[in-house]
Amino acid sequence: MTSATSRDSSPIQRDGNDHLDTIAGALFRPMGVDGVYARTALYEHVIERLGALVTRLREPGAEVFRFPPVMSRGQLERSGYLKSFPNLLGCVCALHGTESEINQAVGRFEKGGDWTTSLSPADLVLSPAACYPIYPIAAARGPVPAGGLLFDVAADCFRHEPSRDLDRLQSFRMREFVRIGKPQDIVEFRERWMGRAEDLARSLGLPHRIEQASDPFFGRVGQMKAVAQVQQALKFELLIPVRSEESPTACMSFNNHRDHFGLTWSLADPVGEVAHTGCVAFGMDRLAVALFATHGIQLDRWPAGVRETLML
Ligand code: ATP
Ligand code: ZN
Ligand code: MG
Repeated sequence: MTSATSRDSSPIQRDGNDHLDTIAGALFRPMGVDGVYARTALYEHVIERLGALVTRLREPGAEVFRFPPVMSRGQLERSGYLKSFPNLLGCVCALHGTESEINQAVGRFEKGGDWTTSLSPADLVLSPAACYPIYPIAAARGPVPAGGLLFDVAADCFRHEPSRDLDRLQSFRMREFVRIGKPQDIVEFRERWMGRAEDLARSLGLPHRIEQASDPFFGRVGQMKAVAQVQQALKFELLIPVRSEESPTACMSFNNHRDHFGLTWSLADPVGEVAHTGCVAFGMDRLAVALFATHGIQLDRWPAGVRETLML
């Protein structure tokens, strides 16, 4: 697609960043809600190549799972999500009533009224991150083996953070490598991947830096959690200046959950030591947007080394 056509098709409401507004039309089409976009073939091509590259980087022995965009509400509740990010969660609702109750709701809608007051929560939530479902799956197998466990997981994720920024979507794709094992296994795993992430960013021609970070915990108590998280160095991010140098975008995160999921799901080694867990998350949509923002929308003009890395 040429940039001329993309301008003519007046793509998404302006994001306010001239540079990103220019490329938006080549990558996305509006779907009526901020942060939820149809993706063009050009964009998906790069997403696919990026996904294949991540697969090539995967450590041997990783077990692969691909999760649907929904997961068990009970499992997410048990994971403590509501204590940390209740504001971001999307919950599936449905019309659970009798035939006549459902007909009444639809009838109200047809008369211009509100049918949604008849909705009640289903036993599903929209997955807010790719790794939540893996811990109960691992726990169901019994004791964690001596060498620990390694997974490659992915999901379409949802977070209720509507925005016009192309790097903050409500529906986005997350790929993760998840390690379960001894505390030292997690520390080494995360260290290794922070190094590899910098190599990856370099080979993709993306300016970057890795910085310590905290999660956007909800509310005032949340601010204390964020301080504790920084003090314990539990989270790092790979930052890329997608919008600007001053406020770079977190395109990957490196998380040490310590014993949180081990305690929640009774993950322990054969002698009963609680397992630690950690994950490396690739924000696939943010990485793709970063590539287009950095190299433009004409793939044949991307630097040769970047094309080679991505096998474009
Ligand atoms: P941010 O601080 O930017 O909100 P986060 O700390 O919430 O990011 P994580 O929870 O670590 O992000 O999620 C893992 C990765 O998923 C992030 O590094 C990012 O690349 C991607 N991601 C998170 N939220 C979004 C979003 N709203 N839109 C697109 N990608 C996202
Ligand atoms: Zn994770
Ligand atoms: Mg966030």
